[in-house]
Amino acid sequence: MSVRIADLLGEAQAAGVGRADAQRLAAHQLGCSREWVIAHDDQLLSDARDVDVLRKLLQRRAAGEPLAYLVGRREFHGLTLLVDRDVLVPRPETELLVEWALELLEEGRRAQPTASPDVVDLGTGSGAIALAVKHAAPWARLSASDASAAALEVARRNAAHLGLAVDFVAGDWWQPLAGRRFALALANPPYIASGDPHLAALAHEPQRALVAHGDGLDALRRIVAGAPQHLRAGAWLLLEHGHDQADAVQAMLTAAGLSEARTRADLAGLPRCTGARWSG
Ligand code: GLN
Repeated sequence: MSVRIADLLGEAQAAGVGRADAQRLAAHQLGCSREWVIAHDDQLLSDARDVDVLRKLLQRRAAGEPLAYLVGRREFHGLTLLVDRDVLVPRPETELLVEWALELLEEGRRAQPTASPDVVDLGTGSGAIALAVKHAAPWARLSASDASAAALEVARRNAAHLGLAVDFVAGDWWQPLAGRRFALALANPPYIASGDPHLAALAHEPQRALVAHGDGLDALRRIVAGAPQHLRAGAWLLLEHGHDQADAVQAMLTAAGLSEARTRADLAGLPRCTGARWSG
């Protein structure tokens, strides 16, 4: 039976799917642009399979599955990244960390125009941070670690499809990088405490990418603890964290011997990234 696109989208909106997401899912299934869907929503879908698949996608969105998983990709810092349930969906606030990293790399380049600084992204997930940095600062040499083999596979697929060179290594935080020192280290680790009520809304994403033991600071602590053995003199460590963790992160950086600790706010005005420098 033929169904009007507008009727399918109306059904989804009644089930709680946002209008834009419903249009994006229709565009994805029909292989057209969202603009086309908006302009042609009075058209009948006569292919029963399209109707069936699209209805199921809309139902999954209504049940809270992230749009990025349903369409298999997400824009991050101007790149289209492939994503699936093995990786956290890259967030716009993480672009702040990338921007900060790029400022430092550009500053470094002005001082030393021929240098190729070693940069590391710990817990790379989809590869979002490492790939965005490599794309915008191709003179840097990028390494990235993750403890999840499935996540690394996604990250490697992203690097291949974007044609960006990143050295991906398997293991927890610094563990696969023993003996190496970097000019810049970045991480967006899990920072939500287990039992936090926000987790209910994030049930479709990998819990190990979101949740850190105890107060949510465990992963941040482990990254900071390893920093002195892995940073070159003058290197910065930049960390994303929860909106109420900036003071704790600044304190742990300072206690580990890093200096110049400072925090930047995200677009919502929440303190979201903290960095400090290892003077060696
Ligand atoms: N580094 C990846 C990102 O920022 C993954 C982060 C994570 O899984 N906690 O999207």
